[in-house]
Amino acid sequence: MEKKQYGLGDIVQMKKPHPCGTNEMEIIRMGMDIRIKCVGCKHSVLVPRPKFESKLKKVLRSAAPEEAGGSPSQNES
Ligand SMILES: [Zn+2]
Repeated sequence: MEKKQYGLGDIVQMKKPHPCGTNEMEIIRMGMDIRIKCVGCKHSVLVPRPKFESKLKKVLRSAAPEEAGGSPSQNES
């Protein structure tokens, strides 16, 4: 199973675009529920975490660049 990683401030893409036509949402609150804000019309919605994860398509841009381990192979000597 592919694990989706997301965090506060990330720009995410949902499976269904927002009625305004934008398909980019920013995570503005993390908790038991997750608040996302539409980048296009600035409308925010609160969704339970499981629902958010089922609707999440992918993370477009991560707010905090995480470099956890897996560095690309570098052949420099
Ligand atoms: Zn919108």
